[in-house]
Amino acid sequence: MSRLVYVNGDFVAEEDAKISVFDRGFLFADAVYEVSTVLDGKLIDNNAHLRRLSRSLSELSMAAPCSDEELVAAQHKLVELNGVDQGLLYLQVSRGVADRDFFYPSHNDSSLVMFTQKKSLLDNPKVLTGLRIISVPDIRWQRRDIKTVGLLAPCMSKQAAIDANADDAWMVEDGYVTEGTSNNAYIVTADNKIKTRHLGNEILSGITRTAVLKFAREANYEVVEEPFTLKEVESAQEAFITSASLFVMPVVNVDGKDIGSGKPGPVSLEMRKIYIETARERADL
Ligand code: PMP
Repeated sequence: MSRLVYVNGDFVAEEDAKISVFDRGFLFADAVYEVSTVLDGKLIDNNAHLRRLSRSLSELSMAAPCSDEELVAAQHKLVELNGVDQGLLYLQVSRGVADRDFFYPSHNDSSLVMFTQKKSLLDNPKVLTGLRIISVPDIRWQRRDIKTVGLLAPCMSKQAAIDANADDAWMVEDGYVTEGTSNNAYIVTADNKIKTRHLGNEILSGITRTAVLKFAREANYEVVEEPFTLKEVESAQEAFITSASLFVMPVVNVDGKDIGSGKPGPVSLEMRKIYIETARERADL
C-alpha cells in the first residue's frame, strides 16, 4: 500500500505527488527541513522542531508556508492517515517555484511537503553493539546552524564511513570535532563529565541535544559545552551521539580505536533510557 504524502495543502498518494523542476529546493537546495520522531503515534518534541524551523526560515528570509496551527494539524492528519505508530515525519519548506535565477523571487509562495517513514526506532540493534565511527574533514558550509537540505557533504561522509566498514562519521574542523554527519557528538571524560561542542554557526542545535543536556544536568552530571579533539576522544571513557531518530546512541570505536571498554557505556545507556522515557511521557499528539 502506498503512503499518503502532503504537498501544499493536499494529501495524495506518493506516486501522484509532484514538485516542479523549477522549485528552488531542487535547483539551489534553497529549502529547509525538520525530522520529528513519532512514538506511540505521537510526535516527540514537535514544538521545539517548529521553533527551529521558524528560525531557519527567518535566517534565510523565507516565508512560512502556513501558520503553525495549520502545519501541526496537517502533521497530525498525515501521521493518522498513514497509521504511523513508530517512525519519522519529514517536512520540507522550499522557497517555491520561480524561473531559475539566483536572486530570491519577489513572491512569498513557499512550498511545503511532508511524508512519514515507518521505522522501528526503539529496538535499534545498534544499541547493543554501539557505533563504529570514522573521522572526516568537515567540508560543509559555514551556516550549519540553519537546517538546509544542502546535505551532499554529510552524504559523502556517511558513504565514506560505510566504505570503511564503519557506521557513521564525525566531522573535524581546525582540530576539533564539530558534530556527526546527522547527529550531535559527545564524549564522557575520564572524570565523568559529559562534553559536547558549544552552539554556534558550526553545528546544528539539535533538539535531542537540548533535551539530553537538560536531563544530564538534572541527573547531576557536569556538562561541559566546549569543543573536543580526537586526542580527547581516545582518552574518553565513553562516547555517544544524539538525534531525533537515534535518540542517544553509544559510540564504541573511533578511527579503529576502542573508546573505554569498547562496549556501550553506562552513561550513554542511562541517558538513552531517561530520554526515551521522558519523550514518551511528554509526546504531544
Ligand atoms: N547535527 C546535524 C548535522 C543533523 O543533521 C542533525 C539531525 N538533523 C542533528 C545534529 C541532530 O538534531 P536533532 O536532535 O534535532 O535530530
